[in-house]
Amino acid sequence: MIVTKKIEIKGLVQGVGFRPAIYRIAMNHLIKGTVENTNAGVIIVAEGLEKQVDSFINILPDQVPVAANITSINIERLPVQNYPDFKIIKSSSNSDEITQVSPDIAVCEDCLDDLKHQPHRINYPLTNCTNCGPRFTIIKSLPYDRLRTTMAPFEMCPTCRDEYTNVLNRRFHAQPVACNDCGPKYTLLTQHDQITDFIQLVKAAALMIDSGKLLAIKGMGGFHLACAALNREAVLKMRELKCREGKPFALMVRDLTVAEKFVILGEEERRLLTSWHRPIVLATSLGTIPSEVAMGLNSVGIMLPYMPFHHLLFEQMNSDVLVFTSGNFSDEPIIIQNEEGIKAFLDKTAAVIFYNREIVNRTDDSVAFVVNRKSRLIRRSRGYAPSPVNLNLNMEGIFAAGAELVNCFAIGKGTQAIMSQHIGDLKNMETLDFYSESIERFSQLFRFVPILAVADLHPDYLSTRYAEEMNIPLILVQHHHAHMASCMAEHGLTEKVIGICFDGTGLGTDGHIWGGEFLYGDLLGFERFSHFEYIPQPGGDAVTKHPWRMMVSYLVHYFGTGIFEEYPFILEGIDKTECNVVVSMINNKINTPLTSSTGRLFDAVSALLGICRHAAYHAEAPMQLEAVVDPYTDSVYSWIPGSSISFKPLFRQILDDLSTGISVGEISGKFHNTLVEVVVTTAKTMRTKLNTNMVVLSGGSFQNKMLLQKTENKLKDCNFAVYSQEQVPSNDGGIALGQLAIAAQRRLHNRL
Ligand code: ZN
Ligand code: ZN
Ligand code: FE
Repeated sequence: MIVTKKIEIKGLVQGVGFRPAIYRIAMNHLIKGTVENTNAGVIIVAEGLEKQVDSFINILPDQVPVAANITSINIERLPVQNYPDFKIIKSSSNSDEITQVSPDIAVCEDCLDDLKHQPHRINYPLTNCTNCGPRFTIIKSLPYDRLRTTMAPFEMCPTCRDEYTNVLNRRFHAQPVACNDCGPKYTLLTQHDQITDFIQLVKAAALMIDSGKLLAIKGMGGFHLACAALNREAVLKMRELKCREGKPFALMVRDLTVAEKFVILGEEERRLLTSWHRPIVLATSLGTIPSEVAMGLNSVGIMLPYMPFHHLLFEQMNSDVLVFTSGNFSDEPIIIQNEEGIKAFLDKTAAVIFYNREIVNRTDDSVAFVVNRKSRLIRRSRGYAPSPVNLNLNMEGIFAAGAELVNCFAIGKGTQAIMSQHIGDLKNMETLDFYSESIERFSQLFRFVPILAVADLHPDYLSTRYAEEMNIPLILVQHHHAHMASCMAEHGLTEKVIGICFDGTGLGTDGHIWGGEFLYGDLLGFERFSHFEYIPQPGGDAVTKHPWRMMVSYLVHYFGTGIFEEYPFILEGIDKTECNVVVSMINNKINTPLTSSTGRLFDAVSALLGICRHAAYHAEAPMQLEAVVDPYTDSVYSWIPGSSISFKPLFRQILDDLSTGISVGEISGKFHNTLVEVVVTTAKTMRTKLNTNMVVLSGGSFQNKMLLQKTENKLKDCNFAVYSQEQVPSNDGGIALGQLAIAAQRRLHNRL
C-alpha cells in the first residue's frame, strides 16, 4: 500500500548537510516526495510503500550528519499525492517559529583530502562542505542561505555551482562553498610588502613563525596572535604585545601525538580535542611546556587545528606547537574586522594575515575540561554557540541579561534557551558595545521580541542596567540562586534541591557579598541554609588583585593582630605600611564589605602559603593553589559547622603546618579535602532536615578540577544524586540560563 507522511523535524537541522543527507536516505529507500527548510526546521513529505516509509523514518535519526541534533520529530499522515520523484525544494519562510543556527564546524577529513587532490581546491585555505566550515560566524539572517551570509558577494564558479546543485555531491547546498577560482582569498601584509599568492604566503608565514616572529592571523571568529611556543623570546614578545604578565597562553598543536608530549590525555580529552567543536581543552601538564607559557599552572590549554589554513600552515612549519591566543588587547573583545586587525597588529607583529570574507558574529575559542569523564565548559563560544539548551519550560520572550564577568546573555524561544557566545567582562565600553550589538543581532536572527527581562540583583552590573533600560517588566534574581537554577535547568530539575554554590562574588539578599553558599530551594525561590562565615573584604573588589589582603583579613578576624607576632613569617615580604592600612581599614570598617566568598578563602590560603600574594589575572591565586595540590594526601583540617561555617581552626592548623615545614602541596591538598568535607557534611545535615537527596553544584569555584572531582565522588559515595554543569559553564557565563529558567517558572506560576 502506498502512503504519504509529513515528517516535521526540529533541532539543529540547517546548515549541517541535513537535506542532502535526507535525499540520499530517501533514494536508498525508494521514497518519493520533498524535503524543505522552513524557519521552524525541516519538513519532509515521504511517499512510498508503507514498509519503506516506516523504515525510512526509523533510520533517519541514526543517519543524519554529525553536527545535526534532532530535538523532535512529528509525523502526520497526508493524502497520497503521487510524487514523480524526491526533490529538495526551495527554502520558504512561512512561520514565525525559528529554527536553530549551527555553530561553526571544524574542517572535515574529506575537505582536508580535497586540499591535496581536488584540482580547483589544491591548497585552498577556506575549503568547506556541508559537513564542515563556518556557520554562525557568517550568518546574517535566517533561513540559512548563501545570500544571507557574508559569502553573498562571492559568485560561484561553474565547477562550484555544479557541486552545489548536484544532490549527490558532498557540497550540495553547502552555502559557503568556494574554491581557488571563486572564493575569498588570503592576504599576508607586512609593513613593506603584501603577498597574495597562497603558497608563497603560507611559506612566508611558516618561516616567520619558525624564526621566532609573531603573526596576527584571522581565524573563524576573529583574529589570533601566534608564535612558536618553544621559542622563549617569541613568547616573551607575545606577553609584551598582549600586556599579559602572568596568564598562561593557549596552544595549538600539530596533532594528538604532539599534544601527548605536553599533556596527559584521557579518552574523553582526546574525544573533545578531535570533536568538530574543537575547543581548547585544559589538560594536565607533563611539565614539558616552557614556564613562560604555562606560568606555574599544572593545566595547559591545548587545541588542534580547525581551519584548512591551520593545517596548511603546520604542513609548511617546523614548529609543532604554537602559542595561539586571541587577537585582542587585555579585556577588549577580539578583533574581527580586517582594517582593525591591520591597524592594531601591523606594527606590532611580523605580518597580518587575513581573508576577504567578513565575520558577522564574533566568537572566541571555547574552553573545556574533563572531570569524571564528562566534558565541562569554561567558555562557551566557537563550535558551541548558538546551540540552544532545551528546557521543559516556556521561555518565549524572556531576555536574560547574565552577570558581569565572563558575561553571556540568553534569549528564550519557546522551550529553547539560546545562549549567546562568550561576551566577556562587561567593564569597558568595547565589551559593552559587543554586548548590545549581539543582543540586537540575536533579536533579529531569531526574531526575538523581549516581553520580560531578568537580570542580576546587583544594581551596578552593566547587564542589570541594560535590562532596566529595556522598559519591559524586569525580575531581579540573586546571583547564587541563578547559579543553582542554571545547573537545575540543564538537568531538567524543578523540585526542591540542595544548591551548593561556590564562587568569587555575587550580591546577596542581605547586601553582603556571597560566594560560599548552601541553598535550599527550587526555581521559584530559595532559603539560605548555611554559608561560609562573613569576613571583611578590605578595599572591596580591589582585593582580587591583592590576595594577601584577604590573608590579613582572615587572620585578624580570627586571631587579632597578635597572630603576626606569634608567627612572624606571615608578613615576610609584605609592605608594612600597606599592611597597617589594611588592618586599620578592617578595624574601622572603611570600605570593607563583608564576604562569604569561596574565591576569597582560596585567596587567603594561597597568599598564606606564599603561592600567590599579588594576582596578575582573575582567579590566579585559587588557580595557583590548585596547581600545587598534592592529590595523594587524605588529611583534612578542622572547621566549625553551623549556619555560619567557621574556618578558624583551619587557619591555626595551616600556620602550625607551615611552622613545622609541611610542604605547600600537602597543605593545599588538606585544604581542598577540608572543603570537600564541608560540602559533604553540610549536605548530609541538609538531607536529614530537609528530606531531599538531590545536590546541585555550581559556581566558578567548581572549575577547580580537584574540588569538583572529589566533591562529586564523595557525595555519590554518600548516596546523593549529584548534578554539575556540562552544557554551560559553572562560572558566571552560565548565569543567564539560570535567570531564564527562574523567570519562566515564576511567570508560569504568576509570581513575577
Ligand atoms: Zn568538509
Ligand atoms: Zn569555485
Ligand atoms: Fe558567580
